[in-house]
Amino acid sequence: MKAAVWYGGKDFKIEELKEPEISEEQALIQVKVAGICGSDLHAYDGSSKRRKPPLVMGHEFSGIVSKVGAKATGVAVGDRVVVNPIIACGVCEPCRTGKNHICENMRLIGLHSSGAFAEYVAVPAASCIKLPDNVSFEDASMVEPISVGIHAAGRAGIKIGDNIVIIGPGMIGLTSLMAAKMAGAGKIFITGANGDEGRLALAKKLGADVTINVMQEDPVARILAETKGGADSVIEAVGLQRTIQQAMSMLRRGKNAIVVGLMQTDITINAIDLTVKEIGLLGDYGYTKDDFMRALEMIAAGRANVKLLATHTFPLEEIAKGFETLSTKEGNAIKVLIKVSK
Ligand SMILES: [Zn+2]
Ligand SMILES: [Zn+2]
Repeated sequence: MKAAVWYGGKDFKIEELKEPEISEEQALIQVKVAGICGSDLHAYDGSSKRRKPPLVMGHEFSGIVSKVGAKATGVAVGDRVVVNPIIACGVCEPCRTGKNHICENMRLIGLHSSGAFAEYVAVPAASCIKLPDNVSFEDASMVEPISVGIHAAGRAGIKIGDNIVIIGPGMIGLTSLMAAKMAGAGKIFITGANGDEGRLALAKKLGADVTINVMQEDPVARILAETKGGADSVIEAVGLQRTIQQAMSMLRRGKNAIVVGLMQTDITINAIDLTVKEIGLLGDYGYTKDDFMRALEMIAAGRANVKLLATHTFPLEEIAKGFETLSTKEGNAIKVLIKVSK
């Protein structure tokens, strides 16, 4: 089978590899479409060392079941499926309480095992979800990133009419915006910097009411002026000291910021503000199985405008070009999809 093997840095090679063997509980998926995640990009540009080359990346994918193991249930050869790439152990305390996404022994397809930038990938049969007929393989590859936004909006506990701020118009910020809108948010603000103009314009199409370029205007002053004492919730999708502090300063007293951005490890915050304003900083990671199913439902129902977000598609042979396009945000690239097989 054809696979895009990543050798570190910007080095991809298209190679002929042996088709993966499957265990009794697994299914073999012929990958149709796989999206490039921000976390894959961080390996490519060297900003994260989590992925170890040589590796076949790719965890946002859809395809057709081509083989099933003897003990695999729920899927059959020929089924069109999307795969939840988080493999949880099922027995640790978070798993036992429905929080598979923060499993103590969590493994991700395309990080800990070979991923979807290859014609075939072996996955647990239980991780395959059948696609409704009206959901294309392209749309299905967007289930994973949409579920990240749904999880963040869920953590924010949005109520009808809440004023919400999204910091950062990257893929997570934009899918959080979409989910916040679905959850009934009132006024939605989104902030970005120079170079984000295209993404902020897209945010408007997705339902943002106010876009703020933080290089031109103080976002905290603007939000305090346009809300009653601050935002009801802030979804922080950048992860820098400055943006996390901004999130705290924009909030109404007694409210929470959801910290989903991942950049700086050690930050300083104003702990007096935290305490006397009873502000909460809630970490946020990935998505639960429930979020994943909801994302598929929203796409199937036509409520998640995934076509606006999936800006580019490249064939597997041009995967390096796909990564470079995302890296340079060329042509306002937001989500780059790889068409793995026809
Ligand atoms: Zn992802
Ligand atoms: Zn677990």
